[in-house]
Amino acid sequence: MRYNAWAVFREGLRGNRGWGPMWRDPAPKAAYDTVIIGGGGHGLATAYYLAKEHGLRDVAVLEKGYLGGGSIGRNTTIVRANYGLHGNSEFYSHSLKLWEGLEKELNYNVMHSQRGIINLFHSDGQRDAYARRGNAMRNQGDDAELLDTEGVRRMLPYLDFEQTRFPIYGGLYHARGGTARHDAVAWGYARGADRLGVDLVQNCAVTGIDIEGGRVTGVQTSRGPIRARRVAIIVAGRSSQVAAMAGLRLPIESHVLQAFVTEGLKPVIDHVVTYGMGHFYISQSDKGGLVFGGDLDFYPSYAARGNLPMAEHVIEAGMTLMPMIGQARLLRSWGEIMDMSPDGSPIIDHAPGIEGLFLNCGWCYGGFKAVPGSGFSMAHLVATGRHHEPAARYRLDRFRTGAGLMDEEGTGSQHNLH
Ligand SMILES: Cc1cc2nc3c(=O)[nH]c(=O)nc-3n(C[C@H](O)[C@H](O)[C@H](O)COP(=O)(O)OP(=O)(O)OC[C@H]3O[C@@H](n4cnc5c(N)ncnc54)[C@H](O)[C@@H]3O)c2cc1C
Repeated sequence: MRYNAWAVFREGLRGNRGWGPMWRDPAPKAAYDTVIIGGGGHGLATAYYLAKEHGLRDVAVLEKGYLGGGSIGRNTTIVRANYGLHGNSEFYSHSLKLWEGLEKELNYNVMHSQRGIINLFHSDGQRDAYARRGNAMRNQGDDAELLDTEGVRRMLPYLDFEQTRFPIYGGLYHARGGTARHDAVAWGYARGADRLGVDLVQNCAVTGIDIEGGRVTGVQTSRGPIRARRVAIIVAGRSSQVAAMAGLRLPIESHVLQAFVTEGLKPVIDHVVTYGMGHFYISQSDKGGLVFGGDLDFYPSYAARGNLPMAEHVIEAGMTLMPMIGQARLLRSWGEIMDMSPDGSPIIDHAPGIEGLFLNCGWCYGGFKAVPGSGFSMAHLVATGRHHEPAARYRLDRFRTGAGLMDEEGTGSQHNLH
């Protein structure tokens, strides 16, 4: 069923009895052309574009839990294209353009809201860095505007401009940045892929990867073995564990990232705002909750829950920037596992030495906004065997050779030091 105003009207008259399930619930077949491990945003988007752009429909997405139950449904929903380095800049630019047409493309309301992002700066050095980044964004064809203190005050009057320790010097304004409804993105891609014939198999954990003579031949799963000519590992925080099933050791560490949401309030924060002197960022959800977060808990872990010291740190930063937040009651917090790469940039590549096996991981804090671009580029790689131009620099071997590292945010884990 196509979603449109007429369908809503008709179903309203019929007691909403005509809405069918959004996707089928197929049992896994014994063999597929292509198997995607992981039913998160990136896995589902890859399946969709494989079917849509490349006509590959003998595809299964194998998800150990339920679709959208991983990071895709637990992030803080920020979508932006404000990267400065060659490699990242063109990739995120391409991804944002896909976002801008996504609701039409999927016939699904993903609540993409281009409300604008403002990255605050608090020193001359930070201003220079943001000016450089803004110029790179504009060179890439995206939007960026450097605001001074008064410019920020006009847009964000609720900030504490009187803080003497970290006065607000200005901000980099990216008007096309914003937010989207995170799980709707997973559901939209899932529905789109299912309609094109992809099997979405839930409660199906991959437990082994079969390799014969240097070529992938299938996977072992909790629902039996499945043969496949091509296998793509797209499991975000579990990337190291699943790659180990193929004998690979990835330069990825899994860390917990927390997020927080307050009770619903009347509209008060119209943009996404990031603090330059502490790791803190905030936006307001359409339900009214103030959604905010900060940095990693800073030790590798597969426990999808957070710890109090980081909660305290994030809330302190929030109180410094906008003391009014102290009036809001915190409703809940949660944590989920991030696939941290050493340079903060991702990997979209062939698995070394294993024909037919592909890797997509290393999204760190920023993989939600990457979902459309990553799915598009990954599908191109899997279908054609060649790298898609905007993602061409996301090679695994940059961590071995040191050539082509893209240390964009400097927040990746630091194995290479040891
Ligand atoms: C608190 C928080 C805030 C964030 N905020 C932002 C943000 O504002 N903007 C942004 O761009 N990014 C953000 N991110 C990052 C973003 O959410 C992730 O980078 C992205 O969602 C990861 O890709 P994914 O959606 O494919 O992962 P997931 O949804 O985690 O998908 C991976 C899937 O693989 C499945 N899987 C794992 N092992 C197996 C197996 N053996 N067999 C079968 N299936 C398996 C998992 O069950 C999971 O469903 C945030 C993340 C967190 C945790």
